Amino acid sequence: MSESPEQRFLNFLKSFKVAEKEKYRQRISQLSASNTRALIIDFEDLISFDPLLARDLIEKPEEYLEYCNRAIWAQMKIEDPEYAERTKTFIARFRGLPERVSLREVGSEHLGRLMTVEGIVVRATQVKPYIVKAAFECRRCGVMVRLDQKGLFMRGPASCTRPGCKSRFFDFKEKESIYINSQEIRLQERPEDLPPGQLPRSMDVRLLEDLSDAARPGDRVSVTGIVRAEQEYIGRKGRLRTFNLYMDANHVQVSGKEVEVIEITPEEEQKILELAKDPWIHRKLIMSIAPSIYGYDDMKEAILYLLFGGVPKKLPDGITIRGDLNILLVGDPGTAKSQLLQYVARVAPRGLYTSGRGSTAAGLTAAVVREKTGGMVLEAGALVLGDRGVCAIDEIDKMRPDDRVAIHEAMEQQTISIAKGGIVATLNARDSIIAAANPALGRYDPYRNISENINLPVTILSRFDLIFVMRDVPERETDSRMSEHILSLHRLRTAPEVAPLPPDLLRKYISYAKKIETTLSDEASSELRDFYLKMRSGSGAATDSPIAITPRQLEALVRLCEARARAFLRNKVTVEDARAIIRLMTVSLQDVGIDTSTGRIDIDVIMTGIPRSQADRLREVADFIAEMEKESGVVDEAKLYEALQEKKGMSEEHAKALVNRLRQQGVVYSPEDGKIKRT
Ligand code: ADP
Ligand code: MG
Repeated sequence: MSESPEQRFLNFLKSFKVAEKEKYRQRISQLSASNTRALIIDFEDLISFDPLLARDLIEKPEEYLEYCNRAIWAQMKIEDPEYAERTKTFIARFRGLPERVSLREVGSEHLGRLMTVEGIVVRATQVKPYIVKAAFECRRCGVMVRLDQKGLFMRGPASCTRPGCKSRFFDFKEKESIYINSQEIRLQERPEDLPPGQLPRSMDVRLLEDLSDAARPGDRVSVTGIVRAEQEYIGRKGRLRTFNLYMDANHVQVSGKEVEVIEITPEEEQKILELAKDPWIHRKLIMSIAPSIYGYDDMKEAILYLLFGGVPKKLPDGITIRGDLNILLVGDPGTAKSQLLQYVARVAPRGLYTSGRGSTAAGLTAAVVREKTGGMVLEAGALVLGDRGVCAIDEIDKMRPDDRVAIHEAMEQQTISIAKGGIVATLNARDSIIAAANPALGRYDPYRNISENINLPVTILSRFDLIFVMRDVPERETDSRMSEHILSLHRLRTAPEVAPLPPDLLRKYISYAKKIETTLSDEASSELRDFYLKMRSGSGAATDSPIAITPRQLEALVRLCEARARAFLRNKVTVEDARAIIRLMTVSLQDVGIDTSTGRIDIDVIMTGIPRSQADRLREVADFIAEMEKESGVVDEAKLYEALQEKKGMSEEHAKALVNRLRQQGVVYSPEDGKIKRT
């Protein structure tokens, strides 16, 4: 073939047709209207038109991109000579290379090649001017020397270009020089691509001109560009032999503006619809959540709703209401909180597990940090990276002070605004949050209310739709069943009860259900209203309430109801949904110490879970047991009842009930059958 590469690109631009229309001639003629000099070319088109040219472009991108740029100019001279003259150079931007290399695999063999990598933007610098043509004035004769700039460092002229001058001293003229916008972003492996237990890899990408500001931290992008190496450190002693890889971007495509769509085949859809007809589907779904963890049915039910989520609403005045649910688990160490969180992060589409401190400098939200070179960069934290997914935050009580401030906005408005060091940005954080917190005193103290128990302000607590307290209380029957469960887990390597829906099917079911737009029926909404009004009427008096009953709780009820309707693949929220959700909310409110029959904070409920007169009797029995322990060490249950009858006139039935209460509260336990001991 004797045609020059430039001519071949020109042929392509001139004659590539889609549906009888010259696709690129058309695009070129539209460039002036949008006042841009970048032409976006689908790489597949080039492959189908001239595969050899496409291959050369991948192998020698620097050279061939230049040919293509010139071809665009040549074509522009035909389409719009005036714009061609005015603009001088055009840029070809290629999108969607067939070969996608994961960030993890980018290595020295890719140097100098054109390639497409996918990742998530974790940090971005400010947009800065980047010099492309530097002007220098000769100190002796005043002649202006202009130099095209290539490579990483600015280059000055060696000597004056005027014949006979030969001066080697110049002044840099910043006003006469030509700049374009530039920005650097850091691309990191997407959390879901990360092999378990590995640190994410990252690569810096330079964006020039119209590409700068094309992507923000938290965006998922695929970047086409040339891989380059930058020398790591140049010191006085010389240059290191190691290089850092970075990429000069040619095209940036921001993807995943919508929720991840999991591929569902027609057969699978059939199966899902079949499942939804099962009257026991709700139970089966709950049983499929973390089957290896024993008990915690209420928490699992809540987690199920978190996975389905409610319907986000955009009101005509521009206000949005989140549909995502936030759940907090507070509890004693060793109650499987971390395990539940990790399970959720695994099963949820786009799940992310992090600890309160966050794994990067940006922590949970976002931070502006100073670079080595002195510039400021905006770095995305876990909630930004988990945008449109589920973020599981373990040990949330240990988050950084900065996050404590910023997380308020993230949890309600689902954005993170930052204005610091010259960077002003609002990042998306549309996450469902499931968080776990340990009690400040090591163990949950039932004699204190929740905000005294954990190191989190009420303003954050009230942004959780549901809060559960997980207490580790010795209780013979559950202990024995739980130990049976855990031991058989270790022996058989599976849960004794098989999950009715395996994780894969569960994920598909959820993904299918999430598309359903549900609305409240009249009956359901009046049910919710009645409950809310009842709670409100009491909470006015309770200024010391650990959780203020606010319209947030009402919105939480609606979200939960919508999620429950989705679990049945229904588009209407029914009264049953409303009742089931009110029950769940009641459990949660009681956990934090609110008496749901009055909506008032019930000191007795917080203290003991029971009314005062009974509390007195409990103390009496506990004291009595302490007394007997002094004599015999371990107390015989039968003897205890006898003594109580004799000395306090308590029926055996009543005494038994009280002892059971004490056992539930963890005041006493049974070291063996028929024996009682204080903890
Ligand atoms: P936490 O984060 O609440 O301190 P972990 O999640 O680390 O506790 O759990 C500690 C261990 O106890 C885990 O190995 C977990 O599997 C086990 N465990 C605790 N409670 C249960 C339970 N109800 N069912 C099964 N395993 C449990
Ligand atoms: Mg833990």
